Amino acid sequence: MDKNLDDIFNFDKVADDCVKCGKCIPVCTIHNVNADEVTSPRGFIDLLGAYKRGHLELDQTAKDIFESCFLCTNCVDACPKDIPTDMIIEQVRSDIAQKFGIAWYKKAFFLLLRHRWMNDVAFKLGWTFQTCGFKIKAETNSMNARVSLPILKTDRILPSLSKTSFLNSHEENINNGGKRKVAVFIGCLANYNYVDIGESLLEILAALGIDAFLAKDQKCCSAPAYFTGDFDTVDSNAKHNIAYFESFSRDVEAIIVPEATCSAMLKIDYEHYFHDDPAWKARAQSVQRKIFMATEWLQHHTDLEQLLASKKKDTKIVTYHDPCHARKMQGIHKEPRNLIRQNYKIVEMSDPNVCCGFGGVTMQSEKYHFAKAAGIPKAAMIRDTKADVVSAECSACRMQINASMGYADVKTIFKNPIELIAEALRN
Ligand code: SF4
Ligand code: SF4
Repeated sequence: MDKNLDDIFNFDKVADDCVKCGKCIPVCTIHNVNADEVTSPRGFIDLLGAYKRGHLELDQTAKDIFESCFLCTNCVDACPKDIPTDMIIEQVRSDIAQKFGIAWYKKAFFLLLRHRWMNDVAFKLGWTFQTCGFKIKAETNSMNARVSLPILKTDRILPSLSKTSFLNSHEENINNGGKRKVAVFIGCLANYNYVDIGESLLEILAALGIDAFLAKDQKCCSAPAYFTGDFDTVDSNAKHNIAYFESFSRDVEAIIVPEATCSAMLKIDYEHYFHDDPAWKARAQSVQRKIFMATEWLQHHTDLEQLLASKKKDTKIVTYHDPCHARKMQGIHKEPRNLIRQNYKIVEMSDPNVCCGFGGVTMQSEKYHFAKAAGIPKAAMIRDTKADVVSAECSACRMQINASMGYADVKTIFKNPIELIAEALRN
């Protein structure tokens, strides 16, 4: 990213930078499922410029258009002018939230994300009653509603809940010899739904003799709220997390995150969010130096690769999907593959860098028809590999890819690379 943040958020000027070359259009996730110029990066940029110059009213049609972007950043990668369409849309969604308000169910969800104890209670209740309302598929940590509701049809595949959250299953400090120590930021989906990710990460740290600090006062990184324009929740959670990280960051080598979206939010988007608040921006920049995706840190700062090389080969074939928030935002794509290939054969899908189509809370609720359509090519390319396992270090991708594979009857199983690595260490 060449532009500085002040230039980016002066976005009527950014709109002038667009040379209308159209290089962003063929790679655009929403344009590929809704082939209309207004739902393309070039169209978004034109409309955003008009809005900022006061030539476009933020009405229901404009709201609908700006909420159609998946924030996948494909266009940023392709753009010769480095135009950060995703970041500008994130900003305008805050204006949308202020003008139109936020739907009641999103407000309720974001309220939970602000209060860990409420989240714990809500997810415990959810686990207790989930079998009444949903059919559970344990092998994929998924479930379908038994009865169709207006916003939840019976064919919709969602992640199932775990009995006890990852953070509530362990002591805060786990001693593996006292020589090295990292903190773990787990992310909400891995804390409440895909708990094997955290368990696997602890197994890996134990095998490497690295102490783990589970940082139990962590709050949701607030990415779901950021992408929906609920900046009050972002403000509250980001300030809490930054102050909390400052309180222990001298005691740990790193804060490791087995999740692409959470790590990108903590490492990159907090700084963007505080672009006009110099004091908090400096604090966000200071803590971001300690934040790493889990495979990134394990590959570059430990002997895990050599340890895995000494273990048995597994016959499973793995294909790796690149989460947008890992490869495009953080440049991380070699690290998980280097670790996985020590014990598994990797067969690449035709385009691992194509967005899975998750798209955030709005895309997963009122615009789900777009997310469902965007997931079809990813499921097809996974089927073509004939892989036993599809892997990605992102639980939002997992939720979306599990659903897309379920609709297409693809039998490949999803695992985070951290789970595959822990499995290899057990052999
Ligand atoms: S972020 Fe993705 S969906 Fe949004 S305009 Fe860019 S390519 Fe299209
Ligand atoms: S690639 Fe960049 S410069 Fe070209 S049309 Fe898209 S946003 Fe404009």
